[in-house]
Amino acid sequence: AFEGLTGRLQDAFSGLRKKGKVTEADVKDVMREVRLALLEADVNYKVVRDFVKTVREKSLGEEVLGSLNGGQQVVKIVNDELTALMGGEQEKIIFAEPGQGPTIYMMTGLQGAGKTTTAGKLANYLRKHENKKPMMVAADIYRPAAIDQLETLGRDLDIPVFSMGDQVSPVEIAEKGVQMAKDENRDVVIIDTAGRLHIDETLMDELENVKQTVNPHEIFLVVDAMTGQDAVNVADSFNERLNITSVILTKLDGDTRGGAALSIRSVTNKPIKFTGTGEKLEALEPFYPDRMANRILGMGDILTLIERAQQEVDEDRANEMAEKMRENRYDFNDFIEQMDQMTNMGPMEDILKMIPGMSNVPGMADFQMDPKDIAHMKAIVLSMTPAEREDPDLLSQKRRRRIAKGSARDIAEVNRMIKQFKQSKEMMSKMSNGNMGGMPGMDKL
Ligand code: GDP
Ligand code: MG
Repeated sequence: AFEGLTGRLQDAFSGLRKKGKVTEADVKDVMREVRLALLEADVNYKVVRDFVKTVREKSLGEEVLGSLNGGQQVVKIVNDELTALMGGEQEKIIFAEPGQGPTIYMMTGLQGAGKTTTAGKLANYLRKHENKKPMMVAADIYRPAAIDQLETLGRDLDIPVFSMGDQVSPVEIAEKGVQMAKDENRDVVIIDTAGRLHIDETLMDELENVKQTVNPHEIFLVVDAMTGQDAVNVADSFNERLNITSVILTKLDGDTRGGAALSIRSVTNKPIKFTGTGEKLEALEPFYPDRMANRILGMGDILTLIERAQQEVDEDRANEMAEKMRENRYDFNDFIEQMDQMTNMGPMEDILKMIPGMSNVPGMADFQMDPKDIAHMKAIVLSMTPAEREDPDLLSQKRRRRIAKGSARDIAEVNRMIKQFKQSKEMMSKMSNGNMGGMPGMDKL
């Protein structure tokens, strides 16, 4: 995300970074560029004005102008102020006090913002990372199929969903849902509510009634990051009426500008606690202002990358895999497993951008691993017999032809993929035995 903004800021800083002593005129020039970059990214103009003012004042201080690496200091000030703009410290979600449960959350926001999807993602996240037993409540009785959508999510996740159809008021559904959670010993209740295309009084009244009735620990406002300034205005209105507790910013994966992420905190004074980064149920991440600032400046976000990898990879399994590589026992089953892990970590170009400096490497920003290629490789492996997957040496020309047919791929493609697999396997075994000499196929990994 944020390609445009990152590129512009990096351009603005490129001359400055290398500078030793920085003059007042340098600071002025850079801040003019930063201001334009932020406005172009759809950041709220008041937020931009205050931001630029603060950074300029700090950059014109003695320490910066007098120092030998003034350029870097200015970049650091920008980084710190971006972090502050997005809330500074990470803010944790609120849970009920021990013994006072269940914890009650209300999802609010406009139609299409991602409330229902995020309810599912959040339930999944809380079970996985907070050891909770969540339950979801279907209180959107207006949108056709909204109840079905939540029930389907619940089934996929194996998390219970409470519903009463669409003839009962949302207030009553929410109330009964919370009661049910108590009876069934579920410790978190997530109430999915209705949205509208635009803010309207009837909706707000209803949400207010639900709020008053169940007294939630958090009222999450779910906003679509791709809508930029509109998202900020929506947040402002919801906050005024409902006094929301925090924001979840969805569709960050599709947001190239970053205006919502950068403005929403300082306009509403409410923290962003999570971001949605894709359509999958794993694509929800806690929001860390400092990491986001690093990402915006193209300095990478290695911590999030490591956390994502840890989520996908079971440590014991990873060790086992390393051992297999070392002993040259790595086979096509392992290959498929690792391909799936890579796919689950998100688009390859997103992963690369989180590695510090990667966005500066020419060509890297455009690097794409086509999901289709992965799907094709998978199809080829799945057309192998279990014995062939474990022992690629069995793969005679005759067998390869059968596999090509079974996977609807070219025989040439099958041959190429098997060859690459063998080369990589050999290389991995050499590398993990400490011998780095001759690394055929490295460019293909
Ligand atoms: P609601 O009307 O607020 O309940 O919105 P939904 O949960 O039904 O979501 C609307 C659409 O946005 C669905 O197609 C979701 O898959 C999609 N969506 C939600 N969150 C994200 C996200 O973080 N990234 C992407 N790419 N799509 C999302
Ligand atoms: Mg919904």
